[in-house]
Amino acid sequence: MDLTISQISIPNPYFESPTNVFLIRSSQSPPVLIDTGISTEESFSLLRRELAKHSCSLKDIAVVLLTHKHIDHSGLARAIQDESGAVVYVHSDDWTDVALFEERHERVSQLYLEAMRRWGIPEEVIVQVGHFRSRFAGLGRSVPTAQKISDGQILRFGEVELHVLHTPGHTQGSVCFLLGEKLFAGDHLLPTYTSNVGATDVTTDGHLEKFLASLKRILELPNAERLEIYPGHGQPWTDPRPRITKIFKHHYERTDRILKILSDGQALTAFEIAQKLFGRLKDYHVLLGAGEVYAHLEVLESQGRICQSEPNRFALRT
Ligand SMILES: [Zn+2]
Ligand SMILES: [Zn+2]
Repeated sequence: MDLTISQISIPNPYFESPTNVFLIRSSQSPPVLIDTGISTEESFSLLRRELAKHSCSLKDIAVVLLTHKHIDHSGLARAIQDESGAVVYVHSDDWTDVALFEERHERVSQLYLEAMRRWGIPEEVIVQVGHFRSRFAGLGRSVPTAQKISDGQILRFGEVELHVLHTPGHTQGSVCFLLGEKLFAGDHLLPTYTSNVGATDVTTDGHLEKFLASLKRILELPNAERLEIYPGHGQPWTDPRPRITKIFKHHYERTDRILKILSDGQALTAFEIAQKLFGRLKDYHVLLGAGEVYAHLEVLESQGRICQSEPNRFALRT
């Protein structure tokens, strides 16, 4: 099969690193895009220009596959669909937040507000984070016709055949797409920093346990050592095993540090622990830090190692 994969990088001013968009082409198949970019004029025209460099026009895009619902991956799906008629696919657990992105904005803001209170973020900080989050409202658009996909499904476009692997954790509907020995991993598996777990989806809970189980699934794929990983951010690489081992270690170490912080006997909120772990947090990082700590606290509580001495204040179990 004469398959070509092109990596297109779409920067944005809101998150740390540019999003990778992958264009999959073969002579026997319609062009397939994996992920998009935030919904701004700049990123849309950049995508158009970048596709042209690969002799592809936006109008040719027949399929858009989304690894998850976040706006830096899903934002442009609607604009692409409007121009080309592309069919957009997303996992059923992330479907609502993609299909009804604009309609859901209020509700998701409310869920974040409740989560930030659960995490012990002070009200004045919640207001600041709220201002920051409100800027995201215009960076995505609803895709009501998006098609729901599920684990184990095989998507066939001409001779291109992608297997859907549901990998919840970073978001509940996060998926990887397996094409032969190429794995399009979205934010589930990144080369340099660990993807946030806990703060990036407030529609469900128990993210850390799910995330680690989903990483284990990648390790257990046949010929895992030969897999080429195409991540949502950063450069592709081969053999995910050392990176996954490192991520596991990172999370175990963080759990240990949290237990150590709690060992002086004080009952603390996720936010207070996050400040001890990461120092002073600003803007979105307050959310990411506290949410991630909370995800660890959920696991420790389910293991019976800590308990809530009062709602949302955690202490070692004695
Ligand atoms: Zn993400
Ligand atoms: Zn991302």
